[in-house]
Amino acid sequence: MNDIAPPPATLRINLDSDALAANWRHLDRMSAPGRAGAAVKADCYGLGVDRCVPVLRDAGARDFFVAHWSEVADVARHVPAASISVLHGPISAAEAEYARASGARPIINSLHQARVWAAAGGGPCDVMVDTGINRLGLAMEDLADPLIAELEINTLMSHLASADEESPDNHRQMAQFRRARSMVKAGRYSLANSAGIALGQDYVFDLTRPGLALYGGIPRPELAAQIRQVAYPQAALLLRRDLKPGDKVGYNGTYTAERVMPSGIVSIGYADGFLRSRGGEALAHDGRVLPLIGKVSMDMVVVDLTNAPDLKEGDWLDIPFDLPGAAERCGLSQYELLTGIGHRLR
Ligand SMILES: *Cc1c(COP(=O)(O)O)cnc(C)c1O
Repeated sequence: MNDIAPPPATLRINLDSDALAANWRHLDRMSAPGRAGAAVKADCYGLGVDRCVPVLRDAGARDFFVAHWSEVADVARHVPAASISVLHGPISAAEAEYARASGARPIINSLHQARVWAAAGGGPCDVMVDTGINRLGLAMEDLADPLIAELEINTLMSHLASADEESPDNHRQMAQFRRARSMVKAGRYSLANSAGIALGQDYVFDLTRPGLALYGGIPRPELAAQIRQVAYPQAALLLRRDLKPGDKVGYNGTYTAERVMPSGIVSIGYADGFLRSRGGEALAHDGRVLPLIGKVSMDMVVVDLTNAPDLKEGDWLDIPFDLPGAAERCGLSQYELLTGIGHRLR
């Protein structure tokens, strides 16, 4: 292959960097007297580390959270490695050695991980305590283990299971976390994710870990007025086709035209994260509604162009990405809509 550059893509995401920065600043203010960090795992929830982390850093974020060790290097191109914490922690000597070599902080989730970390030589780390989600994190009983007393703990944290609901579990977890705080000496204490921040002052402690709301998700109504949409996906019109009455559209012919109808074939499909469950929605152009017809294919969808008969090949159509609304309409969570964004869109 010669070095010819590929032509511009036929699908894209426009990122509103100002909205991303404003969302972080708003969550940071709500986290006072503590500070907000930023969950940047899963490639910033699908929006791209290279585009989002510099914006979050410049807005003022100083603490970054990823899930996997494989995510550290990409984030560390933009921020000091020592500001990155790895949620899954070190399960093997290889991971502990990588932590020490890279400078990212492991989050110790079990006595096994505490042993692995100590055996590798230890150093600054975070500790996750389980206060009721029963996922990652040391059991409350384990906090008294002498291994924990020997750790050099930057941040003691826990994670809320139901912060996006009115649940008595929220208060219960917060009370448990206060108990954990009295048992473990750490530089900082951190409990709240995006939704937890909206639960109020009792939940913010020293550091919060918002993810979803940074990227425009709204897990609780308290955040609706201030959190702004960040991602605006668009896909190009590939072809126009005039349908006749009786023409069937797409796989399995699930849609039949009842009249003469202009249709458009659009360059986005389920391989891009636009799943079949979104097939009941509509795309848009300049506010004009273009209902989807037929099944979502891997690389394409078909729209009814009746409301925009002037559109031509190459014109950009808007993919709805108002996260709370889109989630409601298709039955996916706001998290799944973001993290499902496919590589061709990023
Ligand atoms: C993903 C994650 C977060 C961010 O949660 P959001 O609900 O997206 O704000 C915070 N803390 C932990 C431990 C996480 O795994």
